[in-house]
Amino acid sequence: MMSDAWRTEVWRLAGTLGAALATALLTGQWSLAFLGALILYVAWHLRQMYLVERWLVTGGSLKHAPDSSGIWDQIVHHIYRLQQHNRRRKKRLTNMLNRFHRSTEAMPDAAVVLGEQREIEWSNRAAVTLLGIRNPQDHGQRIDNLLRDPAFHDYLTLGDFEEPIDIPSPISDNIELNIRIVAYGDGQYLLMARDTSSLRRLEAVRRDFVANVSHELRTPLTVITGYIESFDGEQVSDYVRDGVAAIDRQTRRMLSIVQDLLTLSRLEMEPPDPAAAELVPAAELIAGLARDAEGVAGERGHRILTDLDGDLGVRGVPGELASAFANLINNAVQHTPDGTMITVEWKLESGAAMFAVHDEGPGIDSRHLARLAERFYRVDTSRSRARGGTGLGLSVVKHAVARNGGELDIQSAPGQGSTFRCVFPAERVERLGRDTRALGGSGES
Ligand code: ADP
Repeated sequence: MMSDAWRTEVWRLAGTLGAALATALLTGQWSLAFLGALILYVAWHLRQMYLVERWLVTGGSLKHAPDSSGIWDQIVHHIYRLQQHNRRRKKRLTNMLNRFHRSTEAMPDAAVVLGEQREIEWSNRAAVTLLGIRNPQDHGQRIDNLLRDPAFHDYLTLGDFEEPIDIPSPISDNIELNIRIVAYGDGQYLLMARDTSSLRRLEAVRRDFVANVSHELRTPLTVITGYIESFDGEQVSDYVRDGVAAIDRQTRRMLSIVQDLLTLSRLEMEPPDPAAAELVPAAELIAGLARDAEGVAGERGHRILTDLDGDLGVRGVPGELASAFANLINNAVQHTPDGTMITVEWKLESGAAMFAVHDEGPGIDSRHLARLAERFYRVDTSRSRARGGTGLGLSVVKHAVARNGGELDIQSAPGQGSTFRCVFPAERVERLGRDTRALGGSGES
């Protein structure tokens, strides 16, 4: 269906051609008459075009719209409608942007938009107080020129933003920041920084409290156990003897909890000391621990098989590694039925050093695995207590392994035994240059 505007345009063309025809009939100048008509027609259109162009240049307001007819009137109308539509959209977007800016300005967390080269494109008000990034003076600068913490530099270079990072604020060492970077759009990043100082202080208070309480309890408990040890059960009744035996068991239990809590506090509070790290001949250490564990298991008849690479060393703190490995071997004894087999491995796996303890015990349901290394988390509390467990062993293992650059990994399923692995990255691994046969390779300890 032809629109009114096009119909007018067709009539205009037909009128022009009709006038040219009449002129040609009257004068006999056919070419001249049609050429003249065509020139007039084109000139009229050019003028309309000129008027529309001027109108657009001067702002395209309705008041100054050119007084056109036919198709040009329609074109002006369409342009004006599109313009109005765009204006409304722009207003909506500006409002939205203003609202977004106002809300990010009100946020207590710092927000910084980074470009492809990690340059600052935009930042909110909290970025001034937490990161020292001024809006807009620092825009265009690379973020690592302003946040010069080496850990942050490595984090940015590595580009793996899955986990957040904790660094001190460049404004003050007393402000602890938790920084998270999220990639979005085309090569853009949003950096969010949260002040975690109060949380850290609270954690420090909690750690101090636990450490102090444990410390205060240790002395009286040691005194009590000392008296109980020297107690002569010969001259007293069975009732008193049984009572003293119960007191002995319970105080020993309390002492081991206090001892584990103190170990945990030390692992948590003291920063890792690089000077204390040395190249540890782990196979010798593990062989000794396995023998000790078998001795402690005694009549329970566990068999501990070892498969140890005697030439594989790891750089770490010997005491901390021994504590982690011993806890895992003892757990395998404590939480499995008598007479079952336990395999202890120390070997190189894809460049990393791996310590693994595998047992044939009841296994652990997957819903417990993620929480197993939490303090006092036990699958079966009464059974763990009955076996002298404190519920702190795996927390100690996790911290001790992490302090030495490694990770604890637990694999287990009900009825299929459990495998606890400590994996140390390649940069911690060193060859000792020893003859591995000296240790006998694999065997029963
Ligand atoms: P606990 O002193 O109770 O051994 P841990 O922190 O060492 O405390 O271990 C936490 C819990 O994990 C244990 O109570 C037990 O339920 C479970 N667990 C640890 N090791 C094993 C294992 N080898 N097999 C089965 N369960 C285990």
